Amino acid sequence: RGQLYYAANDDSPDDSSRSSRHQKYRMKEQLLSALNDNRLVLFYQPIVNLKTNNISHCECLVRLLDSESQFIDPAQFLGIASESGLLPKLDYSVLEKAMRQQSLWEESGITTGLSINVTAPTLEQADFQQKFDELLQLTGANPHRLILEIVETDAISNLNITRNLLNHFKTVGTQIAFDDFGIGFTSFEYVRDLPVDFIKIDQSFIRFIHEREQDRVLVKSMVEMSHSLGKKVIVEGIENRAALAVVKEIGVEYVQGYHICRPMPISALDLSLHLRY
Ligand code: C2E
Ligand code: MG
Ligand code: MG
Ligand code: MG
Repeated sequence: RGQLYYAANDDSPDDSSRSSRHQKYRMKEQLLSALNDNRLVLFYQPIVNLKTNNISHCECLVRLLDSESQFIDPAQFLGIASESGLLPKLDYSVLEKAMRQQSLWEESGITTGLSINVTAPTLEQADFQQKFDELLQLTGANPHRLILEIVETDAISNLNITRNLLNHFKTVGTQIAFDDFGIGFTSFEYVRDLPVDFIKIDQSFIRFIHEREQDRVLVKSMVEMSHSLGKKVIVEGIENRAALAVVKEIGVEYVQGYHICRPMPISALDLSLHLRY
């Protein structure tokens, strides 16, 4: 009966799953061609140090320039990249672009750092460390001005690999941030035992922190624990002054969010941004 009913309906699940399969297929084609034709573009979002109120580094956020010259957000293509095994290719492409940008800044005496998101399938590549070092050679980037952002749950999914890599990056001088921290139920034991430099608290805790006492209490204790383990804290998702005031009061030292600056193409980025309250 259900079958008959749906068959007569334009919006039947079969049709919609067929069209979503088709959409996925098209997005995969777009992603593949973007990887080949260099149509992945980096946007840059400032992260401000609250001690100086100046930009300490920018997060590189990838966009796909489609055939109609529209920028597509990563939410539209990261799932497909993951399913198709394309994450390492995408991550390497972003790494190389970021390193080239840092190298240009380095030549101009600009000390702003860059943080780059890397995913578990990339970390799990047997030659990731070697590729990273080769890209440094190729681009002339200064590893001390780079930070790798690893989603908390990706970092602990294979602890042996993570531990080896993080130790390598320690010796190279590249810093590590645990991204989207707090939603993965990771024990602080991992934070203690791994050579991580930054804890980046997930924006879901920050967005309404000025209105929700429970979020404030949670973030405050995450900040205190991070600090007592010698880690620096970044919060993302600062969308207004009230939230900024709360996290400052709690002792957070780095902030990122639309209230401070949106992700920007390099041409629109103003590195002299100085945060005023
Ligand atoms: P993420 O690494 O946690 O990056 C932060 C995301 O939050 C970015 O979205 C940023 O634009 C957004 N954001 C920043 N401030 C605010 C704010 O105040 N309010 C709100 N609502 N959002 C804010 P975006 O660029 O769409 O990226 C989404 C996710 O996609 C990233 O989350 C990251 O996991 C992934 N991603 C982005 N670029 C790359 C990349 O180059 N490589 C990899 N592997 N993943 C990436
Ligand atoms: Mg990130
Ligand atoms: Mg994040
Ligand atoms: Mg995220």
